[in-house]
Amino acid sequence: MKISEIDVTLYCSHCHDETLHHVQYLNDKIQSIDCTNCRRTIETEMNPMRELYKEVYKRVTSKPTRLTDEYKTDHGKFIEGFPKRVLSKPLRLVKYLNETKEALKKINKKVQ
Ligand SMILES: [Zn+2]
Repeated sequence: MKISEIDVTLYCSHCHDETLHHVQYLNDKIQSIDCTNCRRTIETEMNPMRELYKEVYKRVTSKPTRLTDEYKTDHGKFIEGFPKRVLSKPLRLVKYLNETKEALKKINKKVQ
C-alpha cells in the first residue's frame, strides 16, 4: 500500500474560485482532496482497510499459481530459481510492510 500526494489547481465550490488543492492517492486511487485555501476536504468512498485487504489477498493468491505454473512448464528452472526467490522474498516483504505501515500512519493521523 502506497500513498502519493500532489498539489493541483482545481475549482473549489466553497471558495468559488480556482485554488490549490492537495490530492492524496492511495494505491493510485484518489483518497482525499483538500482545498488549501478554505481547508474543505472531500473524501472519496474508498475504504483504506478494504484496499489493503484486496491488495494482500491479491498477493497471497497470485503467488502460488505463478510458482505452480513455472513448476509445470520448466522443472529445472523452477528448482534453480527457487532458493534465490526464497531469499529475496523476506526483503521485499519487509519493504512492503514498511510502506503499508507508513500509509496507515498517515491515514490514522487524518482520521483523528
Ligand atoms: Zn476552498
